[in-house]
Amino acid sequence: MKVWIDQDLCSADGLCSDTCPAVFAMGDDGVAHVLLPDGTLGDGREDMALVAPERERDVLDAKADCPADCIFVED
Ligand code: SF4
Repeated sequence: MKVWIDQDLCSADGLCSDTCPAVFAMGDDGVAHVLLPDGTLGDGREDMALVAPERERDVLDAKADCPADCIFVED
């Protein structure tokens, strides 16, 4: 499973980074990003993060709870 965030829609509440800090982080721009393997923050669909199997439930919970509906998962 891969995950990405549409930063243009993010409401910056930080729920996803609270739910799954191993996958999501708030950027200096104030909105959420996925964490990439090199430790940088991904931007949009061009920077999808591969989700470890043990993180999938947390990522799906974060997606379900995202008030802006801007977390996307793909196979
Ligand atoms: S839960 Fe959604 S709206 Fe909130 S910070 Fe994360 S991506 Fe943005």
